[in-house]
Amino acid sequence: MSGRLVLLGTKGGPAIRPGGPWPTSTLLELGGRTVVVDCGLGVTRGVTDAGLSLKALDLVFITHLHSDHVLELGPLLHTAWTAGLATPVTLFGPVGLNRYWQSFVQALEFDIEIRIVDEGRPDLRKMVEVVEFGEGEVLSDGDLSVTALRVDHPPVTECFALRFEHQGTSIVFSADTAFFPPLADFARGADILLHEAMLEEGVERLVARTGNGARLREHLMASHSLAGEAGIIAARAGVGRLVLNHLIPADDPDIGEADWVEAVRKTWNGPLTIGRDGLVVTDKGEDAP
Ligand SMILES: [Zn+2]
Ligand SMILES: [Zn+2]
Repeated sequence: MSGRLVLLGTKGGPAIRPGGPWPTSTLLELGGRTVVVDCGLGVTRGVTDAGLSLKALDLVFITHLHSDHVLELGPLLHTAWTAGLATPVTLFGPVGLNRYWQSFVQALEFDIEIRIVDEGRPDLRKMVEVVEFGEGEVLSDGDLSVTALRVDHPPVTECFALRFEHQGTSIVFSADTAFFPPLADFARGADILLHEAMLEEGVERLVARTGNGARLREHLMASHSLAGEAGIIAARAGVGRLVLNHLIPADDPDIGEADWVEAVRKTWNGPLTIGRDGLVVTDKGEDAP
C-alpha cells in the first residue's frame, strides 16, 4: 500500500469528555492527494497535529450529515483559508451538503468579507466546490477513484460507505451502519477496511448512565454494528486489515483495547487495529502517534 491513513477522531457520537477522544474524522494521503473523510469536532486540530499544512487540503468527503461527521467542516475550511489556502478544495457529500456549506459561509459573511478587503485574501466562497453524490461512482480523477455504497443507518437514508482506489491500493470506510452484508462485496479485497463498532456490554453501561436510555439503546442497536459484526464483514470481504473506529463507547474507563480485541476475534482472525486518535495505519500495521 502506498499512502498514509491517520485516524484523527475515533469516537462515535458528538459528546466530548475531559481528555477523551474526538468525534469522527480521518486523514488519507493517497496518490499525492490530501483527503479528509468526515469532519467531526476536532478535525482541524487533528489535521494540524498530523503534521499537515491546512493549505494542502484538497478533497473532503462527508459520509452523512450527522453532526459527529460534519460539525467542523466549515471551521476546517475557514481555518485553512485564514492559514493561506490558495488552491481550490472540493467537498463531496450527500444531498444537503451544499445547504450546509452555503449556510456556513453566510453565517461567516462578516468575517469573510472583511478579510478579503483587509487582508487581500481570495474569496473563500469561490474556492470551494460542493459535489453532492449518491450511490455509485463519486470521483474518477487520474489514478484515483472513489465509489459509494448506500449503507443502513436509520433514520438517515443518505449515508454512504466509500471506497478509495489508487494504483492497486484500496481503502474502504464503512461510514455509520448497522450490520450490512452488501458491504462485504463492496470492500472485497481492500487493503484496509475501517469499520464502525460498538461493544455490547459498554452500550449497556452507556444506556444506564443517560437519561434517555431505552430510546438511545434502540437507536444504537438499529443503526450501528457490534464489533463482532464488523469482523464478519472483514472476513467475508477478505480485507488485508480491519481497523475499528467510531467506537461506542470510546471513553468508558472500564473498557480497554483488550475488550475490543476479544469481541472481534470471535469473527476475524486477520490483522486488526483498534482505532485511537492520532494513530497512523498502513497495511503493515500501525505507528504510535
Ligand atoms: Zn456517527
Ligand atoms: Zn451517524
